[in-house]
Amino acid sequence: MAKNKIIIIGGGASGLMAAIVAARRGAKVTLLERKDRVGKKILATGNGRCNMTNVHCTYKCFHGGHHTFIEGILKAFNVTDTMSFFQELGIHPTITASGKVYPRSLQAGSVLDVLRHEVERLKVTVLCDEEVIKIEQNKQFVVYTKQNNKYYGHKIILATGGKSTPDLGSNGTGYELAKAMGHTVIRPIPSLVQLKSDAPFLKQLKGVKITGKASILDERDHILREEYGEILFTDYGVSGPPILQVSRIASDRINNNKNVYLSLDLMSDLSKKELDKALIERLTGMPYKTIQDNFIGFINKRMIPVLLKETGIAPNKKAADISKQERQNLVIWLKGLKLHIHGTHQWNQSQVTAGGVKTTEIDHQTLESNKMPGIYYCGELLDVDGDCGGYNLQWAWSSGYVAAVGASQS
Ligand SMILES: Cc1cc2nc3c(=O)[nH]c(=O)nc-3n(C[C@H](O)[C@H](O)[C@H](O)COP(=O)(O)OP(=O)(O)OC[C@H]3O[C@@H](n4cnc5c(N)ncnc54)[C@H](O)[C@@H]3O)c2cc1C
Repeated sequence: MAKNKIIIIGGGASGLMAAIVAARRGAKVTLLERKDRVGKKILATGNGRCNMTNVHCTYKCFHGGHHTFIEGILKAFNVTDTMSFFQELGIHPTITASGKVYPRSLQAGSVLDVLRHEVERLKVTVLCDEEVIKIEQNKQFVVYTKQNNKYYGHKIILATGGKSTPDLGSNGTGYELAKAMGHTVIRPIPSLVQLKSDAPFLKQLKGVKITGKASILDERDHILREEYGEILFTDYGVSGPPILQVSRIASDRINNNKNVYLSLDLMSDLSKKELDKALIERLTGMPYKTIQDNFIGFINKRMIPVLLKETGIAPNKKAADISKQERQNLVIWLKGLKLHIHGTHQWNQSQVTAGGVKTTEIDHQTLESNKMPGIYYCGELLDVDGDCGGYNLQWAWSSGYVAAVGASQS
């Protein structure tokens, strides 16, 4: 039989991994990319530093598809495999205390460079500015592009990503290709994204950063997810690592027309009792100061007028005159500022897409389509999304590897 011809659609993280693995296994690989160059999104990852994986990666860091599906793919090409793969290409890893892995150069460009060099070395044909719009099955697969070109292959790997940050290439066209082949697409929603709130004081707090705890609550105030880290107030709502981390649940609930509340513990290093004690010490230690001056040095200065307005305390009231009830109200606000979340930012800002091609329609071991054999799926296009911390790229590497191994088998 002639050499196995594989066409990979999409030159992002998963597509580049798939191209290398398939070419190493002897396939003749053509990679079609709709943008003018491959790997644009990789350059934006980890604030330009590329958090390429995480040593604590397990299926629990992912959402969407069934955990046995995710676990199987992660096992087939795990974090150690990823680190060895990149080390062989020249990427020396550096690992943070929380397990995040970056290239030692702290440059996402290094990760893309070594992938591009390997693709080139393996003589993969990379064709940019080619947007795939249709796939047909005759004796071979025929792939049609918007640029009026046709390509022929024995196997196809779909690695088109989700809908997040379309400027970097992934504009959701992969879902249309998948649907045309009979696949179900679980409604894509933005994840790892900023949250919008209508709280009246946000404009005043714009730019204030506070390290604390962010919890997503349901209507009954049950905590659905809780994360710790630096919370950034913005004029539209809140951002920062813990917010992105809890955003998936918020996004999901908003899309299902459910109420979403965010509770912020702005003094998470102190219990309510400890905070109350600290306030008593401040109030009694500096009783002659107005309450607004008394708070300077204890919380962010720009937060003081908001805190006092929201708790109904006159800013020029003397510390000595603060009642027990007022003190308790201050504690309640600082330990559980509750915001109604009415939306999330959209695709331009979201780092990852939740939802995608339903995983029960995909072979768990090879990532081959059950609807159209010979077509393989990988990366964010599938209904699998990870938490913030290097997990989404790990999913791209693992699933790209598995799809390529599957497609390389004749
Ligand atoms: C700002 C930002 C920062 C991030 N930081 C991190 C991080 O530090 N760590 C981490 O783990 N994850 C991070 N992520 C998420 C991670 O980048 C993605 O999950 C991962 O890149 C997905 O890989 P993919 O190959 O599935 O899709 P993509 O990387 O999106 O690649 C898909 C490719 O397919 C091409 N394409 C799409 N449709 C077609 C078509 N019809 N024809 C031809 N080509 C097509 C696109 O142009 C694109 O190049 C970040 C995401 C963003 C946006």
